[in-house]
Amino acid sequence: MLLSAYAELDLAAVPHNLARIRAVAPNAKIMAVIKANAYGHGLIRIAKALSGVDAFAVARLGEGITLREAGIRQRIAVLQGFIDREELELHIRFGLEPVIHSPFHVEIVEGLSSAEFLSVWLKLDTGMHRLGVLPEEFTSCYARLQRCPAVRQPIPMMTHLANADALQDLITAKQLDCFKSALHNIRTECSIANSAGFLAWDAARVEWIRPGIALYGVSPFSDRTGLDEGLQPVMTFRSRLISIKNLKAGDAVGYGGDWICPRPTRLGIASVGYGDGYPRHARSGTPVLVRGQRVCLVGRVSMDMISLDLTDCPDVRVGDEVTLWGKGLPIEEIARHASTIPYALLCGITPRVKMVERWE
Ligand SMILES: *Cc1c(COP(=O)(O)O)cnc(C)c1O
Repeated sequence: MLLSAYAELDLAAVPHNLARIRAVAPNAKIMAVIKANAYGHGLIRIAKALSGVDAFAVARLGEGITLREAGIRQRIAVLQGFIDREELELHIRFGLEPVIHSPFHVEIVEGLSSAEFLSVWLKLDTGMHRLGVLPEEFTSCYARLQRCPAVRQPIPMMTHLANADALQDLITAKQLDCFKSALHNIRTECSIANSAGFLAWDAARVEWIRPGIALYGVSPFSDRTGLDEGLQPVMTFRSRLISIKNLKAGDAVGYGGDWICPRPTRLGIASVGYGDGYPRHARSGTPVLVRGQRVCLVGRVSMDMISLDLTDCPDVRVGDEVTLWGKGLPIEEIARHASTIPYALLCGITPRVKMVERWE
């Protein structure tokens, strides 16, 4: 049976991408970021495909617990940490490493007894102003954590770059300086870089790197593709043609009649829409592959279908496979046509899309 919308996952691309990342930062340990269901690829599946990494990072406690319950043994950092003592105790119970990003965390950790054992990461806000202790709070937070008997020493440090994908932006250099000066007389392991950070900034390749998007074969830079970085896409999103008909010049297509046939048009309908995670805001002209040929999406994306102009592809038939992004059609290009980013497209794949694993 042919599947309608499905995501083909080339799991062999995962170790390939990991090797490529290691080649860029050969001395760094890798904390693989698999939050948000591994960017839509499946949390446990991707954790298993990444068995060689030194640690994982997830956004939330629940994701960390899911990994432990699936038998994942590596270190796991929880980027958002905890909000109260109960959540902290769950980190201890499951051997998860919360990121301490605010002085209120230090206070809760100080309440632990010396019989408990906890590894933490301390996050410094060097200018992103989302999570992290402020530079003026840092010295006291660090010193207080050093005095906690439950906390494993030395405490590793992290920060996050706000604009590492903008190569001209001065903020990255400022953030790197801020991090360095806060740490000037502390000897511990540090982590600074997301994918854009370690790909573009030498100084961000410290003891640990935190690749996310690059693991999935996608570039963090808006003007490049994963292939430009030597990466291979893990996910290829596909569906199939379910109808082809001939329309006259002047006929309107789809909701709102937004697109009018400029010529006699062979119009194809593919079984995929925003109900599957195809972006509703993809504009007419967004490329789609049919039998390896590029055709254009026309008209509005609906919940379960998109329309394609097949006028220049007389050989295409109902039942033919269509590729929405992935192998042969960079997701970065689709993101640009839909005014979004590849991260959001990957995370937006919905549960009705069947995941089909391949090891090639
Ligand atoms: C999501 C995230 C990453 C990974 O970012 P990519 O751009 O996907 O490589 C790294 N660090 C933190 C703190 C994150 O939230």
